[in-house]
Amino acid sequence: MPSAPVRVPRCLSAPTPGWTTTAADVIVVGSGIAGLTCALQLRQHVGRVLLVTKTVLNEGSTAWAQGGIAAALDPEDSPQEHLEDTLVAGVGLCDVEAVRVLVTEGPQRVRELVALGAEFDRTDDGEIKLTREGGHHRDRIAHAGGDATGKEISRALIEALRRVVDDPGIEVIEHALVVDLLTDEEDRVAGTTLHVIGEGQIDGVGAAYASAVVLATGGLGQIYTSTTNPPVSTGDGMAAALRAGARITDLEFIQFHPTVLWLGEGSTGQQPLISEAVRGEGAFLVDRDGVRFMQGQHELADLAPRDVVARAILARMRETGTDHVFLDARHLGAEFLEERFPSIVASCRSLGFDPATDLLPVAPAQHYASGGIETDLHGRSSLVGLYACGECSCTGVHGANRLASNSLLEGLVFAHRIAADIPARIASGHLPAAREVVGQRGESHELLDSRHRLDLQRAMTAGSGPVRSADSTAEGLERLAELCALPVLESAGPKSWETTNLLHLGRVLSVLAGRREETRGGHVRSDFPERDDVRWLRHQSVTVTPDRFATISESTPAAPHLTNSEHSVGPSGGLSVGGSDFPVGEFDFPVDEAERVIEAALDEDLGADPGRDVTTLATIPAEQLREAVVVARADGVVAGVPAIARVVDAVSERLGTGCVDVVVEIPDGAAVQRGDVIARLSGATQTILIAERTLLNILSRLSGVATHTRRWADELGGSGAMVLDTRKTTPGLRALEKYAVRCGGGTNKRMGLYDVAMIKDNHKLAAGGVAAAYDAVRAAYPGVDVQVEVTTSAEALEAIDVGARFIMCDNMSVELLRATVDAIRATGESVEVEATGGLTLEVAAAYAATGVDYLSVGGLTHSSPILDIALDLEE
Ligand SMILES: Cc1cc2nc3c(=O)[nH]c(=O)nc-3n(C[C@H](O)[C@H](O)[C@H](O)COP(=O)(O)OP(=O)(O)OC[C@H]3O[C@@H](n4cnc5c(N)ncnc54)[C@H](O)[C@@H]3O)c2cc1C
Repeated sequence: MPSAPVRVPRCLSAPTPGWTTTAADVIVVGSGIAGLTCALQLRQHVGRVLLVTKTVLNEGSTAWAQGGIAAALDPEDSPQEHLEDTLVAGVGLCDVEAVRVLVTEGPQRVRELVALGAEFDRTDDGEIKLTREGGHHRDRIAHAGGDATGKEISRALIEALRRVVDDPGIEVIEHALVVDLLTDEEDRVAGTTLHVIGEGQIDGVGAAYASAVVLATGGLGQIYTSTTNPPVSTGDGMAAALRAGARITDLEFIQFHPTVLWLGEGSTGQQPLISEAVRGEGAFLVDRDGVRFMQGQHELADLAPRDVVARAILARMRETGTDHVFLDARHLGAEFLEERFPSIVASCRSLGFDPATDLLPVAPAQHYASGGIETDLHGRSSLVGLYACGECSCTGVHGANRLASNSLLEGLVFAHRIAADIPARIASGHLPAAREVVGQRGESHELLDSRHRLDLQRAMTAGSGPVRSADSTAEGLERLAELCALPVLESAGPKSWETTNLLHLGRVLSVLAGRREETRGGHVRSDFPERDDVRWLRHQSVTVTPDRFATISESTPAAPHLTNSEHSVGPSGGLSVGGSDFPVGEFDFPVDEAERVIEAALDEDLGADPGRDVTTLATIPAEQLREAVVVARADGVVAGVPAIARVVDAVSERLGTGCVDVVVEIPDGAAVQRGDVIARLSGATQTILIAERTLLNILSRLSGVATHTRRWADELGGSGAMVLDTRKTTPGLRALEKYAVRCGGGTNKRMGLYDVAMIKDNHKLAAGGVAAAYDAVRAAYPGVDVQVEVTTSAEALEAIDVGARFIMCDNMSVELLRATVDAIRATGESVEVEATGGLTLEVAAAYAATGVDYLSVGGLTHSSPILDIALDLEE
């Protein structure tokens, strides 16, 4: 698997800023649905907003959106059903909490958009007309002007902006292109460099500073030869965030829209989209022989999720040796088509196709970037002061593939959240006032001339397009590296900056596409045609480190959701395994702590660094090479597998013994049965034998904790309650043992005394009561979560009354606990409840049935027997 040999500069080559402004509290970049909504909301809560946009206000994907905006507006529909459809489309990689936010806040946000002036199509009795699109099981797509939804939303938002444009609280600059982000000495984002052309009162490149920057710069469609995205979609915001060190996630998940009008081989740039809504109204796909091919592929046939339809089209194109298929809408009739899809019909006719009489040639083309700048539920990126909204962000709502009409909704919902968060963070002092920073920009001479843009697009389309492979992504990367090395003949300016942004993103995207050895979401891996949940039910994130290398990390989704049972693994050894119930793979293995523990363990075993193994070094020749297996001697769940390679590397480095390769057969979190091979080692026999005890000590101890935790998790399965660990951990091993709890399917309570406040009886006594203790913690550490331990219902209610939102019910009987949980829920407050004290597996289900959220079990880490694991040299 290739590592990431990609270097990304700190900034683009650009003139030194000739002017500076610190007039705004917040800079919003982009004027699509995300940027406009954010700016309009923010101006009501902060002193001054600066909204900048690259060309004119209505340029961007928003104005092109056809189908509509999805929201559970029909009384028969529900956010829960919308959530379920969204999760299915996201193929296991959605962040369920982010989706919940989207679907529950969405309907209200759409109604507010209507109140603002957006005119959606209506039924005869005045209700918003709803239609259906691919992947939706209900009619929930609100549309405007038939197929001109985005245009209407854009118009309404821009009009709302114009109504307040004389307000000193907001300034709008068009033709203002953000080049890069500016950071302060603590790596907080403090502003942007900005190139203003033409009409703006300031000209050339300048520096604009603010407490926060919101990137709402849209997608990156122009990275491919053919896309539905407009010319401004050059990934500028994502690339600037990448260069500044923000975490970029799921970038390889590109959605290729299945039905883009095919205009012939040489056609490049923005291509006309034939909305899914046309299929929603009854159009269907046929191949060159007129054969319908979506039936039998999916329960929703022609209305299956986009990835399914795009894949089916690509397969049919391969089978028939053609570069397009056809969409048949003729039976819908001219009158209906003209009324329902006026823009599409006009666009097709202008290009020589009449949907009422002709089959429309269609093929998949780039449509949407499902990944982008990673954010939390408040739109905060990994860099303080930087927010991202809309298509340039990765909030987690789309997973590996966006559900149709969810992107306008995402921009709307998360813009409101960002506009609520920033003023609060400014008020609490988390975001400092706008201040000029000097000397943080760095120098760069890297630029790709705009005349190479088509070369870049071709490399990306062939390398990481809808069909990819190890070879194609590697060749694509090679071609992009060649482009990097070309001499720069053009002076720095919008065209070369945009092209270079595409280059930076293209290189990272290609690396991630190459690493993902499976088919998921919008693309097909021709060399790995199946989805692989065991290895790849995870996100890939990229961060550029201070030495400018793009480094990749992987993480599993917070609550993975799989719908295709053939991809989950069956039970093993009486314990449930990976798949829909428990994720397998990496769970943020604590590398630093592991390395510290390994060094200490080797000191114990070998003597002070470097130490020695007198038996092995004396009896085994240094040049002898052997293979070995790490094998389970009992049924259980493995944890700590990443430590194996780290132990053998540490031994070989300390003692100068030969190298050993490690191939992992079973990842952390997976269940094993006695006799299963967990990993294979090959290399210097000395290193293998010297490392043996240390690696087995770590692996068997952590696997014991994971196995014990899994028994609890299985016992609680279906109750909605989770098992939690405590601080009763082996000194020095806390991070690793808590990691093993996560691998087992449990969760961590707190890492130590520093990250969560826990008010127990002694604190209440010493502080003078629960209110006094709670207030004291809040005053001293306002950002820290507070948990309060109680022994009666009355105490629980008292704690909630003073503000507590996490209640630990200590040593209660099942009956008392049930009554306490009922009393807590009756308050209507959102309170998490934990049962603690003296819990055993025998009573776990009864306690879970009381409705608590967590059961805390110190025994997970203080009393788990090891899982028997051995290392055997092969004959
Ligand atoms: C043809 C088409 C049809 C679609 N149909 C639908 C649909 O029916 N339903 C749906 O939900 N989604 C649809 N989408 C997707 C949806 O339109 C977009 O995902 C969404 O509008 C993105 O909104 P945004 O505000 O994030 O970005 P955009 O609307 O793309 O706006 C980005 C803004 O950022 C500005 N910008 C970019 N770079 C810079 C820079 N360096 N400096 C300053 N400004 C910059 C741009 O000029 C623009 O103003 C469609 C997309 C297309 C292309």
